[in-house]
Amino acid sequence: MRKFVFAAVAALLAVPAAAQQPPPPKLLVVISVDQFSADLFDEYRAQFTAGLARLSEGTVFRNGYQAHANTETCPGHSTILTGDHPARTGIIGNSWIDQSIARADKTVYCAEDPSAPGSSHSHYALSAMQLRVPTLGELTKARWPASRNVAVAGKDRAAVMMSGHRADQRWFWDGGRFATDLSVRQPPSIAVTNAAVARLLAAPSPALEAPPFCASKAQPIAVAGHAPVGTGAFARSAGDADAFEGSPAFDGAILTAAAGLTHDMRLGQGSAPDLLSIGLSATDYVGHYYGTEGQEMCLNLIELDREIGDFLSYLDSTGVDYAVVLTADHGGQDLPERARLHGVADAQRVDPALAASAVSKAIAADLGLTAPLLFGDSMGDIYVNRSLSSADQARVLAQALRIYRAHPQVEAVFTRDDLERVPVPAGSPDTWSLIERARASFDPQRSGDFVVILKPHVTPIGHVTKSVATHGSPWDYDRRVPILFWRPGFRGATVAAPADTVDIMPTLAALIDLPIAAGSVDGHCLDGTPAFCPQP
Ligand code: ZN
Repeated sequence: MRKFVFAAVAALLAVPAAAQQPPPPKLLVVISVDQFSADLFDEYRAQFTAGLARLSEGTVFRNGYQAHANTETCPGHSTILTGDHPARTGIIGNSWIDQSIARADKTVYCAEDPSAPGSSHSHYALSAMQLRVPTLGELTKARWPASRNVAVAGKDRAAVMMSGHRADQRWFWDGGRFATDLSVRQPPSIAVTNAAVARLLAAPSPALEAPPFCASKAQPIAVAGHAPVGTGAFARSAGDADAFEGSPAFDGAILTAAAGLTHDMRLGQGSAPDLLSIGLSATDYVGHYYGTEGQEMCLNLIELDREIGDFLSYLDSTGVDYAVVLTADHGGQDLPERARLHGVADAQRVDPALAASAVSKAIAADLGLTAPLLFGDSMGDIYVNRSLSSADQARVLAQALRIYRAHPQVEAVFTRDDLERVPVPAGSPDTWSLIERARASFDPQRSGDFVVILKPHVTPIGHVTKSVATHGSPWDYDRRVPILFWRPGFRGATVAAPADTVDIMPTLAALIDLPIAAGSVDGHCLDGTPAFCPQP
């Protein structure tokens, strides 16, 4: 069925080949596979036969890093095409607390305009205004106004962070269809794709057939408060949009929309280089709902490989000279119940007593104050309630630091003062200390009063409801991601030396001869890629 959607739409979009091979390429395609850790890439690389196999023939940085501590979707996507760590992009998390804003809801979504009437962190006015730096697409348009900056993604924040403040088209999945936040005319292919997806959703979908490699991973894992995971194969009942999002068919739909936009806008066929950013979100949902080491993730990655292969074949058929980068916004780890079976003895769920709300209640009882005293979760940025007197804020902070630092699941706690004293790290990301990782996620206006870092393999989901596994930590299973550069006719190598996702933007800029002033971004051009890096 997924194949059907892609094939049906691709047939409508077929254009005659118009061979043109001048360097630099006319179309940059940047693919982010949400939660595609370097661990998963390493594990599955030998199984890929289609799109991911093809991209693996380019230059593969198998030790890429989303180098910062808060390894969430919005910060991760903010690094890929700005060349900057979150300390510079300002995108410290998927959301943060701003106690200075007038509305009752003090939580700000990373891609909202909190000043827009009626906007809240859950029903927001979508905007790139929180992103403090320009994207590659914006800089390319500034240099060559004819250039098009286009994004399509499963998640709105992925599309916003990769395209930035000036996009020509930006489409994202909005609970059953692709939608946009821009005042633009809808390209015909979006209507075609939405109609095809609606037909797909309206029908039930049978389970995928597992190849032997995936079937060997099918083992039921019991999870308290949740149905067992590990043996799923994406059977879906008619109309179940949630199940669709958590299945590889979702990425098939996103790539179909990407192919459609390429066709309608004749991307890569104008006078200036175009940029197409694609956020593939299914892998993240599969990781959250089923973990990373069961049959579900295996089937998802095999399908992803095939779907990317179909998409690259479509690009080939346009005759456009294009180049591709594929990476991820963060990695992930398996659910602790299965990780322990696989020998990760210290894998465990976080103690619910570490939730900021629980710590807040304990301190309130102790100091005779009225909760809430703290805002935040059980890790990452935690904020002291600013409506307390400054003397009480100091008492609450001191007590909270004592409680978190004494807990056996806590690795480290850094205060705002600690982080302000540390320079933003610049060296190789594999060597960064914990506080340097946290510093790369620190923004003085948006960050918490302190940052809690849990011990490795402590999953920050205490009681399981929907998601059984997650990411977000400063540990390498969440930081390490693949970075693949590929261009037709270019054969690269697998590089073990570390790279940083902030290096992608200056490398692509070099590939299209877009000058980037020295020191203006955190990243640097990566040698050994299809780009010719400028000599310093
Ligand atoms: Zn993500």
